[in-house]
Amino acid sequence: MSTLALAAIVAPATIVAVLGWVSLRQWEASAELLFREQARDMASMAAEKVEMMLRHSEDAFLERLGAALGETGPDARALDALLGQAPLVGRLYLVDRRGRLAYPPAGPRAEDAVVLARARAEAAPGLWERGGRRELVHEDQAWLVALLRARAGEPLLVVLSRDPEAVRREILETTLGGLESPTILAVLDSQDRPVYSRVPLGDARRLLAVGFREGLPTWRLAVYQRPGFSPRQAVRRQVAVFMAAFVVLLAVILAGIVATWRLMRRETEMARLKSDFVANVSHDLKTPLSVIRMFGETLEMGRVADEGRRREYYRVITRESERLSRLIDNVLDFSRIEGGRRVYDKAQTAVEPLVRDTLDAFAYPLAQQGFKVEVDVAADLPEVVLDADAVGQALANLVDNAIKYAGERRVLRVEARAAEGGLLLAVADQGIGIPPEEQARIFEKFYRVGRSETQGRRGSGVGLALVKHVAEAHGGRVRVESRPGEGSRFTLWLPRAGDA
Ligand code: ADP
Repeated sequence: MSTLALAAIVAPATIVAVLGWVSLRQWEASAELLFREQARDMASMAAEKVEMMLRHSEDAFLERLGAALGETGPDARALDALLGQAPLVGRLYLVDRRGRLAYPPAGPRAEDAVVLARARAEAAPGLWERGGRRELVHEDQAWLVALLRARAGEPLLVVLSRDPEAVRREILETTLGGLESPTILAVLDSQDRPVYSRVPLGDARRLLAVGFREGLPTWRLAVYQRPGFSPRQAVRRQVAVFMAAFVVLLAVILAGIVATWRLMRRETEMARLKSDFVANVSHDLKTPLSVIRMFGETLEMGRVADEGRRREYYRVITRESERLSRLIDNVLDFSRIEGGRRVYDKAQTAVEPLVRDTLDAFAYPLAQQGFKVEVDVAADLPEVVLDADAVGQALANLVDNAIKYAGERRVLRVEARAAEGGLLLAVADQGIGIPPEEQARIFEKFYRVGRSETQGRRGSGVGLALVKHVAEAHGGRVRVESRPGEGSRFTLWLPRAGDA
């Protein structure tokens, strides 16, 4: 039953563990994938937003530029002032249709000559006809080339560069700074050096990077994973919690099964002991009854002429009736104890007469079976508060056992002395003894060494349980020392005051 129950737990647990492991792998992979996709979406969205902002600021600048040109033409002072208000614009050149530089009056910087030449080539002729804007990258610097139709005068080609520091400050910081995300967004330049990141990157791992389409063609927007956070780790953490809960559940189920199994075993054992008890008690009662009946009938028929024999028969009848009473008392007391109805009537009692009376009841069987009886009652025994009937009965049970379980050496020794502030009663025999592993169990109700046919001796298995109950009801205890084949010694210790 236990192996079956264990298999019933272990087999599904193994299946769940294997399935769990497989799905953990898949779960991790798909979590990673999903996370990447989300990060990519997020990056594209952020990049678009940056582009829009930049475009918006540039459009506004071009509009203001158009307005200024409309009013004053390419007036250097007005344009200088306008440029001063547009930090995003690094350098500005205006070129007319014939390729002449309309602004700045000082002429182009030497390093920009190539850009201007490229811008002119880019513009001719489509841009002059259809208008619009172009992106131009020159030596890592992104330039905007756009046609501006002024209200008055002829159209001009605007060539402007963006100031990276201003872009970082005015566009990236305002656009990306407010975005909430579990990842870190950063903008990298053409050499992959971070231009901007909301928090220091430290040793964060780069997940992916997307390029800007226009406005910042040399830069890229990258998504970084914070150190210690990855979808794989998050999944693992969740799985660890789940596994712990699973293990606890399994342990609880296992403990439940073990407890149920033990309970069931105890119950079956108890049922068996009870049925043995009924059989044993009936058998125990029957024997003295049939003896009494036989002797009674023989006497009644007047067949025994000899007076001595007749006396002997009467004695047997009396002895067997006493034995019967003891048996019935034991069973009745036991049932009272079981029902919690046993009350003890304690009073100051002299110990010596109690011991002698108990032994007197066994005088006949002891003599008949040739027992050597040693009685050692200390002279100065104090009176003890106890229930004389109950203690007498306990002592009788011990003596009865000593007779019942005697072996070849028929010796009975009964002691009574003061010890540890109380009374010590000991009953020792040199009988068959009790194996050490059984010694603790013999005081349990119904328990008999080697089941009901204990070494071929009659008994109900409640005698010692009663002795133990009497001892404990008096606040005392009962102990056994025994060696198989050598004999047993039971000691009943009761405190002097008899309090439980
Ligand atoms: P029983 O009616 O079987 O004697 P008890 O409760 O008196 O029941 O004793 C329980 C068991 O303890 C006995 O069945 C017997 O095996 C063992 N036992 C008790 N007393 C002795 C003894 N003096 N010597 C050997 N075995 C004993």
